[in-house]
Amino acid sequence: MDNKNIYEKFDWSALQESHLKEKISKVIEMIPDDVKSIVDIGCGNGVITNVLGLQYRVTGVDRSEHALRMVKTEKLNASADHIPLPDHSFDMGFSSELFEHLKDDVLQGAIREINRLSKKYIFITVPNDENPDKLSIQCPECKYTYNSPNHLRSFKPTDFHRLFPEHKIISTFTFGTRVRYYNSHLLTIKKRISPPRSWIPNYWMPENKRQTICPKCEHKFVNRYQFNPIATFMDIFNVIVSPKKPYWLFVLMEKK
Ligand SMILES: [Zn+2]
Repeated sequence: MDNKNIYEKFDWSALQESHLKEKISKVIEMIPDDVKSIVDIGCGNGVITNVLGLQYRVTGVDRSEHALRMVKTEKLNASADHIPLPDHSFDMGFSSELFEHLKDDVLQGAIREINRLSKKYIFITVPNDENPDKLSIQCPECKYTYNSPNHLRSFKPTDFHRLFPEHKIISTFTFGTRVRYYNSHLLTIKKRISPPRSWIPNYWMPENKRQTICPKCEHKFVNRYQFNPIATFMDIFNVIVSPKKPYWLFVLMEKK
């Protein structure tokens, strides 16, 4: 499965700086004082990159040519696991909301590349310990089940010790709107006993955000919500057993 077309077809203009204002100022606040240059891997349409570019020497890297058109800093069209730039050419490697989208082999390659490009720091932001099954959708054409925003994995702060053994974590924090975790056992049961269009309740995702493209067959469709009492019961039960957590996890690391 290659997601390249999905990201070319994605409506990048919908992702705007105003939606991420608070997050961007937190990112800038956390960047160490001795950082002058940054490589932003998986920069998308430059919503963060362009702001970083106002005070740092920044190169944005993304595999979507469509997204890169909106990036105003230096930029490079490349996949996160193969970036043709010299070793240690940036003070900090930065990557925001990329790692959760990567398959195992690409993730390993992306980690290798961000290690190789950065001289001193690595700064990663990902969704905070989310359960990607919570936003499961089933394609009505090919029946493939996938996470609506294409998140394939989730991360806890402790995962970064294992992923970056050559670095020490200098700070982590969670940030953003508090969203409810979904208990994985409850989700498994819910997905077994309720129809796919009832998996994501209306209050999680309004009708206008239900447009999606299947990563397997590229069928574009609106995943309309269908009320189901069992699914709704599971959601209510989950509210009792699962906590709310801030949506984002920020991890700043320094070479040992
Ligand atoms: Zn499909």
